[in-house]
Amino acid sequence: MVEHIHPIAETASETSAAVDASAANSSAKVNLLGMSEAKLVAFFETLGEPKFRAVQVLKWIHQLGADNFEDMTNVSKSLRAKLNLCAEIRAPEVIKQLDSTDGTRKFLIRVSGGNVVETVYIPEGDRGTLCVSSQVGCSLDCSFCATGKQGFNRDLTAAEIIGQVWIAAKSFGQLVANGPRSVTNVVMMGMGEPLLNFDNVVDSMNLMMHDNAYGISKRRVTLSTSGVVPQLDRLSQYTDACLAISLHAPNDELRNELVPINRKYPIAMLLDSAQRYIADMPDNHRKITIEYTLIDQVNDRPHHAHELAELLRDVPVKINLIPFNPFNLSNYKRVSNNALRKFQDILIEAGYIATVRTTRGDDIDAACGQLAGTVNDITKRSERHRARFEEAQPIKIIG
Ligand code: SAH
Ligand code: SF4
Repeated sequence: MVEHIHPIAETASETSAAVDASAANSSAKVNLLGMSEAKLVAFFETLGEPKFRAVQVLKWIHQLGADNFEDMTNVSKSLRAKLNLCAEIRAPEVIKQLDSTDGTRKFLIRVSGGNVVETVYIPEGDRGTLCVSSQVGCSLDCSFCATGKQGFNRDLTAAEIIGQVWIAAKSFGQLVANGPRSVTNVVMMGMGEPLLNFDNVVDSMNLMMHDNAYGISKRRVTLSTSGVVPQLDRLSQYTDACLAISLHAPNDELRNELVPINRKYPIAMLLDSAQRYIADMPDNHRKITIEYTLIDQVNDRPHHAHELAELLRDVPVKINLIPFNPFNLSNYKRVSNNALRKFQDILIEAGYIATVRTTRGDDIDAACGQLAGTVNDITKRSERHRARFEEAQPIKIIG
C-alpha cells in the first residue's frame, strides 16, 4: 500500500481538471479511466457531487473493473444517469492476446490513428510483472531497440497507459471482488520513453500505487528511462516510484553510439540526476537499477565490466544485465553465455548486486526490445532505417 509521506504535487494537467470537466458540457463524453483521484474529484465537483462519490467511482473502475455506470450499485440512480450523459469508462481495445509456453502473455492493443502498442505480462513465482508502454514508438532511436527503429507517432493518453494495467488485471480475474492479485509489479519498460510523456505517465503510475486504485507498493512500480535529465530532475516532485536507468555503456564515447540522447545529457549528468531522485525519496535505502543490455563484441568485454564497476563505485545501484534480444533491422548479436557470465562475475567480485534478466516470451516476440507493435511513423525514421539496413546487407546471389 502506498503511503505518501511527503506531499506529492499534482501534475500540471491534474490541476486543470476543470478543463477536462468542462467537456461535460459539450457533446464529447469525458473518459474517466485515466483520471487521477484529484482529477476525478474536481470533475465530480463540477457536477455538484462530493469527493466520496469520486472515490466510489475510482474504486469501481480500478478495483472492480467496471466499464459502465450501471454496475455501480452503491452510486445513486440519479448520479448514474447524470454520468451516463457526460462521461464514459473507455479502455483501449485488445486486438490480440498471445500466450507463450512459459506463461508470458502479450496483449496487442489498438490505440487511435491505426497504431498498435504492446503490453507484456510476465509471471514468475508469486510475482506477476506487467511491462507497460508509454508512447506509440519512440523518438530516441537507441541503436539496439526495435521500438526505436519503428520511429514515433504520439504519446499515449493516461487512459491508454493505465488502461493496459486495467486490461491485464481484468484478464487474470484480478478486477473482481476477492480476485487473485495477478499484477504485483509494473515496469514502464514497454514501448516509448516514459519521461517524454511525463504528465500521463506520472498520473498513471500514481494510480497504480494509489490505495483507492491498484494499491501496488511503490517498491514495485518502476520507471525506466534512457536519460531525459530535465524531466528526471522534476520527477521526485510528482511520484515516488522506483527508478531504472538504461545505461548500456560505461563511457560517453560508447554510450553516444548506443543511446543517442547521451550526446545531450552525458553519463555524469544522468547519474547525478538519478542520485538526486533517490535522495529526495522519503524512505532510505533506495537503489537505482542500472539496466545494461549486453551486445556481442560491442559492450560486453571484460574491460567494459571493469570500467562500469569503476564508474558506479559511489552510486547506490543494483545492476540488471539484459542479453540483447535480436530482431530484424539489427545486425547486433546476443552476448555469448561465456561473456555474460564473465561480465557478471567481474561486477559481483567488485561488490555489486548484478543479476541477469532471463529472456521470457521470445516465442511471441515479447522479450525486451522486441516490442514493435504497429507504429504509424510520423518521423519517417523506420523507412530510413530499412533503406540503410538493406543497403548494408551482402548481395544475395539468386539461382
Ligand atoms: N525507453 C525506456 C523504457 C523502454 S526500453 C528506456 O530506454 O529505459 C526498456 C528496456 O529494454 C531498456 O533498458 C532498453 O534498453 C531495453 N532494450 C531495448 N531493446 C533491447 C533489445 N533489443 N534487447 C534487450 N534489451 C533491450
Ligand atoms: Fe526508446 Fe527506450 Fe528503445 Fe531507447 S531503448 S529507443 S529510449 S524505447
